[in-house]
Amino acid sequence: MVENYSIVKDIKKYASDNKIPIMLDDGINFLTNFIIKNQVKNILEIGTAIGYSAIKMCLCSPNVKVTSIERNETRYLEALKNIKRLNLEDRITLIYNDAENVKLDDKFDLIFIDAAKAQNIKFFESFEKNLNTNGFIITDNLKFHGLVDKDEEEIKSRNVRGLVRKIKEYIKFLENNKKYNTEFYDLGDGISVSIKK
Ligand code: MG
Repeated sequence: MVENYSIVKDIKKYASDNKIPIMLDDGINFLTNFIIKNQVKNILEIGTAIGYSAIKMCLCSPNVKVTSIERNETRYLEALKNIKRLNLEDRITLIYNDAENVKLDDKFDLIFIDAAKAQNIKFFESFEKNLNTNGFIITDNLKFHGLVDKDEEEIKSRNVRGLVRKIKEYIKFLENNKKYNTEFYDLGDGISVSIKK
């Protein structure tokens, strides 16, 4: 366990050195507590990055299995390496592909969306058929580093403005989605939990 702790610390350091966005501490704590409280077992993650959240989700409960999709080769390879270091190969299945091209038959208790922010609606709609009855869809980065709460004129980059607009659209989509009850949590970088009615 002590060894696990130092490997996870290494992964966090790699993420910060290489500017790879991983979940903030209070966000990941919320997610792992949620998994424990709701006895979540099978998880689909869209956006592995370097495997940090998949690993943390597995380490929080011995019953958890994660399938995770990543389209960036460098990140995928780094995630593979990290998962091997922690001997979690039996519990984390990585798929190296753009989630847009992935079709799965399996069912999951939780779908965690943490990928290309402009694609949230698309990912939600394409994977909700993989959700078990009473399943959850959790989405990260709804504050997008605080930019979602800013006035649009304050955001210099046109690209970033476009992303922020997409995230706002996604929030509306969740609020108006009658098939789910969605709660928004102002922690980490903004997290939503949608519960299938
Ligand atoms: Mg994220």
